[in-house]
Amino acid sequence: MNHKSTLYDLIIIGGGPAGVAGGVYAARKRLKTLFITKDFQGQSAVSEGIENWIGNIKISGTELAKNLENHLKSYTGEILTVKEGELCESVTKTTEGFKVKTNEAEYDTKTILVCTGSYRQKLTVPGADIFEHKGLTYCATCDGPLFADQDVVVVGGGNAAFESASQLLAYCKSVTLVNRSAVFRADPITVERVLANPKMRAIMDAVPAEVKGSKFVNTFVYTDKKTGKNVEIPTTGIFVEIGLLPNTSFIKDITKLDKWNHIIVDPRNQRAQLVPPPETTPDARRGESGAGDVVGATATATQRLHNNADGGVSGGGIWAAGDCTDGLFHQNNIAAGDAVKAIEDIYNFLHTK
Ligand SMILES: Cc1cc2nc3c(=O)[nH]c(=O)nc-3n(C[C@H](O)[C@H](O)[C@H](O)COP(=O)(O)OP(=O)(O)OC[C@H]3O[C@@H](n4cnc5c(N)ncnc54)[C@H](O)[C@@H]3O)c2cc1C
Repeated sequence: MNHKSTLYDLIIIGGGPAGVAGGVYAARKRLKTLFITKDFQGQSAVSEGIENWIGNIKISGTELAKNLENHLKSYTGEILTVKEGELCESVTKTTEGFKVKTNEAEYDTKTILVCTGSYRQKLTVPGADIFEHKGLTYCATCDGPLFADQDVVVVGGGNAAFESASQLLAYCKSVTLVNRSAVFRADPITVERVLANPKMRAIMDAVPAEVKGSKFVNTFVYTDKKTGKNVEIPTTGIFVEIGLLPNTSFIKDITKLDKWNHIIVDPRNQRAQLVPPPETTPDARRGESGAGDVVGATATATQRLHNNADGGVSGGGIWAAGDCTDGLFHQNNIAAGDAVKAIEDIYNFLHTK
């Protein structure tokens, strides 16, 4: 089905804390908004307890996700349409703004706010792909109970790794956390709490080398950085938590990305930089718009569109918020705040155009 007749003010993509915060603010500002999301499961939906979502001493990940979904949906109606279960596949430039293509339809919009978060990075050592779902997994919450009373390994040293270890300690015989460097990236308070459990041990300076088994996993191999020797840990379960990569492939041809594929944004307002069309040069673009070098508060949104020294085009109609951006810190509260900032700017952009 094609929805060509409606030109939205804004399309928001992604149903985590960033997308929902953006949706609530957009609806309250009466921006005609289409909200597209695969689901309302932000990344921390798998978390047993979130203790830093401001205003809640402790809330489970599923409850937070449900609260966000309910808050957004309370605004559905003429001004806000929610398309749940649709996956955004590409974005192209049009004369009026952009065309967003999903697995089900195409939609036209003046502006876009991308809030598509991240996905888990895969372990790439020999055996990791062979034993995925055969003892090697990326979700302690989903698969942890299958490993009750067994000796398991967690790979990683950030908050997600320690959180997985903490969950596994509730039913596993032992948990060995393998960290490739000499320091943990997780919050010190979490590290301290998890390592205090007598069933827990951590190995530092240990670089993953191989996953071995027959039908199922039976050994995790790491290289000890200090000795250079390979060490084997007998185990039946390996939980991988080695970082996240942004969900930005659908937008890569139109916005500038950093080397990890995060969308590069201006942290003051979350504006993304658009990739200039190949046939135009910065000089040609300035000439076309007649914008010259107008900068700062006196420049209109259209003029600001053409003022990027590095050839990128900022203020071109796409904003991004949360974990899909090159922001230095990725947390629920930050994602929500980023999106609020973006909506304030999108509102000004649409009303001063
Ligand atoms: C295990 C774990 C525990 C965590 N615990 C905490 C914590 O205690 N406190 C804290 O502050 N942070 C925590 N975080 C980090 C926090 O979850 C993230 O910073 C936050 O979820 C980022 O929000 P977001 O809205 O940017 O993206 P996400 O939460 O990743 O949401 C992205 C949304 O976009 C949708 N989507 C993705 N691609 C597409 C597409 N192509 N088309 C349509 N929809 C799409 C997804 O379905 C999802 O709804 C945790 C993370 C993990 C993994």
